[in-house]
Amino acid sequence: MSSLRFRPFTFEGIGLHTGQPCSVDIAPRANGFGVVFKTSVGDIPFNYNFVDLNSLRATNLRYKNVQVKTVEHLAAALAVFGISGAEITVKGPEIPALDGCALKWFDAFGKAGAKPCPLFFYPKDEIEIIWGDSHARLTPVAREATPHYCVELRYESKAIGIQRFEYRPSHDDFGTEIASARTFALESEVDAILKAGLGRGGSLDNALIIGVDGPVNSHGQRFFNEPARHKMLDLLGDLFLLGSWPWADIEIIRPGHKLTHSLIGEIKRRNQAG
Ligand SMILES: [Zn+2]
Repeated sequence: MSSLRFRPFTFEGIGLHTGQPCSVDIAPRANGFGVVFKTSVGDIPFNYNFVDLNSLRATNLRYKNVQVKTVEHLAAALAVFGISGAEITVKGPEIPALDGCALKWFDAFGKAGAKPCPLFFYPKDEIEIIWGDSHARLTPVAREATPHYCVELRYESKAIGIQRFEYRPSHDDFGTEIASARTFALESEVDAILKAGLGRGGSLDNALIIGVDGPVNSHGQRFFNEPARHKMLDLLGDLFLLGSWPWADIEIIRPGHKLTHSLIGEIKRRNQAG
């Protein structure tokens, strides 16, 4: 079965940020091309042109008055399997958070018959984006070379501190290295997140909460650098807004969705990709 063909499946749960019940039915698209979110009030293509650039702590899609929030973890799984054609029927305002990572999505596509097979394109130019003390750099690499994606977190909080994680998108195993790394927040940020109207579905069941001395979740972290791995997960999901991943070295210092959206916008402008 090619990665374009998989058996349909369904997930339900609550949205991480809205806290509202939501479900998705995922099926291959009959003509094979394009990932589309189908909502009760209209369709939104999974494409950078439909990203709500005001998204906070997530990647939200918007078209006219239709929104689908927090698509990035599902998107990372779509990317790993190279699923370029799917219809995702969404009930509710957000993609279900499940357990806060991409493991259930990854396992579901595998059980549905898809095989990991990421798609790549060859960007033309080096790109650097600097935002305050964050930066992103993309450097094209030769076709025979191996691309490396790297994120580096630099937190004042000693419980996170400086964490670097490197992933070779054409070689490394997403399922074991990244899929189970959960979304995270500092315990000290939680009140502000809730006051901003976000994280309403968040809990210790779907997020890693990090206190002054480390994780407050009873089983601790799944990796010593779980936050850095989760930022890589977010990056891989967001990059799939281009329709395929760049065959390039990418280094991101202090990663975040807004920085990635800006990088993707620049990649599109330079390459007319996606
Ligand atoms: Zn995330």
